[in-house]
Amino acid sequence: MPLMKSWLESANAPDCPFPLNNLPYGVFSHGGAAPRCGVAIGDQILDATALEAAGMLALSDKPVLDRPEWNAVMALGPQAWQRLRTLLFGYLVEGSALKSQIVDYLRPLSGATLHMPFAVAEFTDFYAGQHHAVNVGTMFRGAENALPPNWLHIPIGYNGRASSVVVSGADVRRPWGQLKAPDADAPRFAPCERFDFELEMGAIVGQPSANGQPVSVAQADAMIFGYVLLNDWSARDIQAWEYQPLGPFQSKATATTISPWIVTREALEPFRCPTPAREKPLLPYLQEPGPMLYDIDLEVELTPRSGTPTTIARTNYREMYYSAAQQLAHHATSGCPMRVGDLLGSGTISGPEKDNRGSMLELSWGGKEPLKLGDGTSRSFLEDHDRLTLRGACRGDGYTIGFGESTGTVLPALTQPYGR
Ligand code: CA
Repeated sequence: MPLMKSWLESANAPDCPFPLNNLPYGVFSHGGAAPRCGVAIGDQILDATALEAAGMLALSDKPVLDRPEWNAVMALGPQAWQRLRTLLFGYLVEGSALKSQIVDYLRPLSGATLHMPFAVAEFTDFYAGQHHAVNVGTMFRGAENALPPNWLHIPIGYNGRASSVVVSGADVRRPWGQLKAPDADAPRFAPCERFDFELEMGAIVGQPSANGQPVSVAQADAMIFGYVLLNDWSARDIQAWEYQPLGPFQSKATATTISPWIVTREALEPFRCPTPAREKPLLPYLQEPGPMLYDIDLEVELTPRSGTPTTIARTNYREMYYSAAQQLAHHATSGCPMRVGDLLGSGTISGPEKDNRGSMLELSWGGKEPLKLGDGTSRSFLEDHDRLTLRGACRGDGYTIGFGESTGTVLPALTQPYGR
């Protein structure tokens, strides 16, 4: 698919993250005004809340964009999603007869505050990147036992916390927790010394499933509304002591940072690609009827207090072993009902090479090979005041589908977490 031209010239540049082909959904405000729903286009935001109030985005008999979240739009289902996209195309396409009216609904992207684009119903985090699982498994159990025996059969996951999902730009405070060195007799309670990031994609569930009713992979794919970048902050030392036998708990609960624009499944269609070859056949309920992954270039930048940024990892979403649709289908095998606004973390997306690794744990090989940064310092794990930025983009024929950024800065741990 080529670039679809808009009358808004800034949207037509080959490297613009928000061309007409994209149309991602977010929530924005200017100054102290109330947050409202918007659609990114070029260097502008189309005020969807105002357009609906003016009767130009009628998706339902009741307003659905009169609140600072996209959940009500998601709940309307795929026909309404398609109708919304068709209306937006008609308003913004080059030659649109409505240009003179639509211009009045554009607000500058520059200077806008971006908020959480949807209310997260529940958050589930998976472990579906094979390079990541092999790297971590090799460090902890040795190369012979790198992958757990279930890994090639089940998209492994755990139920995380929706309450600590935050939008790009929010600071993240280094947590306290129970730490125990392998040779220590007893644990101690102290600030995390191995604070880390995880480069992931988040899939947003836009349609519910009924209690007791599993869904197929094809049904699961159709339930997904869109995708965001996701940084799953991780306290490795807390994790090492707590994770057996029920998996991570407090080590993953501090924060999860998502990018502010929901890139829709529709916008990603031209970039579909298959999951890698199966090393062991999957059970029938997990088999994919078609390509379910996307070709999305990803990168991670670390900016210390010195202000000098270093790109520390580059990888691609197509490295995942399981797609979000497979994860969602597996999630519902138990009959667990899925809800509008559920967020599924893909698992850390590492590639085969050293500079494709999506976490400090892997980049520094557990601290044994500290990473050199552009300002001359080195890192095994994140230090206070480090700013982490994830970026993602699909490269089309003369255009880019951008995700914006997922950014967060590490604040020092509280000096007295419980006061005196
Ligand atoms: Ca994770």
